[in-house]
Amino acid sequence: MARTLAAWTARCIGSYDNSMAELLTPEQQDELAADLDALRESLESLLAATADGEKPVQLKDNKGRLTRMDEMHNQSILKANRNVTKNRLQQVNAALQRIAGETYGECVECAEPIAFARLKAYPEASLCLECKSLSETS
Ligand SMILES: [Zn+2]
Repeated sequence: MARTLAAWTARCIGSYDNSMAELLTPEQQDELAADLDALRESLESLLAATADGEKPVQLKDNKGRLTRMDEMHNQSILKANRNVTKNRLQQVNAALQRIAGETYGECVECAEPIAFARLKAYPEASLCLECKSLSETS
């Protein structure tokens, strides 16, 4: 009887250890907060460096190699890239707010912990892998 109970306890502890993702340790959270700060800084400087590209295309003399059409085409690509950067910056800021609100590292959909490895790759991630793949297929 005692042996059975011990085996049962070991199995329970074992399955607990094998749970998909653990809550972040304070050290991991500090590390990811630093990653987010650095990411925000680089995204903001990228936006500042490309801010000129959003100004209306000027009419220049036609001796330049780029025609006005070329310039407008280049500008539309630059704008699209800037939008991607802006969206990511918003997600980074939202993640920094979740750190302040002590909900960082939890999936905003299902409230399960997000794996540290995933956060290390995408510190702004707000969804666990499962919810992320659900949101992409629907
Ligand atoms: Zn989730």
